[in-house]
Amino acid sequence: MAKTALITGASQGIGACIAVTLASEGFNVAINCRGERELENGGIQTAEACRAHGVEAECFLCDVSDFAACGEMVKAVKERFGSLDVLVNNAGITRDGLLARMKEEDFDAVTNVNYKSVFNMMRHASGVMIRQKSGRIINISSVAGIYGNAGQMNYSAAKAGIIGMTKTAAKELGSRGITVNAVAPGFVRTPMTDVLDEKYKEAIIERIALKRFGEPQDIANAVAFFASDKASYVTGQVLEVSGCMSM
Ligand code: NAD
Repeated sequence: MAKTALITGASQGIGACIAVTLASEGFNVAINCRGERELENGGIQTAEACRAHGVEAECFLCDVSDFAACGEMVKAVKERFGSLDVLVNNAGITRDGLLARMKEEDFDAVTNVNYKSVFNMMRHASGVMIRQKSGRIINISSVAGIYGNAGQMNYSAAKAGIIGMTKTAAKELGSRGITVNAVAPGFVRTPMTDVLDEKYKEAIIERIALKRFGEPQDIANAVAFFASDKASYVTGQVLEVSGCMSM
């Protein structure tokens, strides 16, 4: 029986690429979209691209910052596909600003969507995986969570918190046959980074050893490794995929 992967925030960008890549590896795919708008603007196309690989794919609407809604989504995925083998916590937003001017609501919004959502999803999915005695959880962190980044107090806190949760969950769930790892992307070309100004992007390229931005596929390849049998003895790790970026 095909295994099932659930990817949060998979209507576009890195999440959509992860969904199609896992479909190409033979996983049935549950594509989480925040709402109807994301379903129409990417979710449906992502599901079609997954099905082109001969697997089953379906979209599930849920705001991952809502604890109860995450529980409902995990239940619905298990009922639809019969198992939940891989969870990829990818959903994220940015609301950048310097500490001296950052609004409390921007701190709360970013930490709720990027960080608390990972607790929400792992809390519900781990129950299913513990009963199955197997599972893979892959959390998308960021180089901002490892090194810090001026203007991203909220985002770097959330991404650093994800690393702490990843290592703790790996220790708690290892004896149940569940691995938990994180991928920390550098600067990847997606709608999240398209909005940044050109001068800022040029300055960033100078700080990357490989002298180019990453592509969503670079991140999806790392996720596919953690989801594969080849990574069965790897847990509690953070893989930086940044072209060697200095912050
Ligand atoms: P993106 O903006 O293209 O995609 C983010 C996705 O998250 C979208 O599909 C969006 O609808 C979804 N999302 C947002 N809020 C949500 C919510 N409350 N519930 C459910 N889904 C929600 O961004 P991306 O660049 O593809 O980022 C994907 C992940 O990679 C994020 O966690 C981001 O922080 C991380 N990341 C990106 C970069 C980069 O350079 N692009 C670098 C490091 C880390």
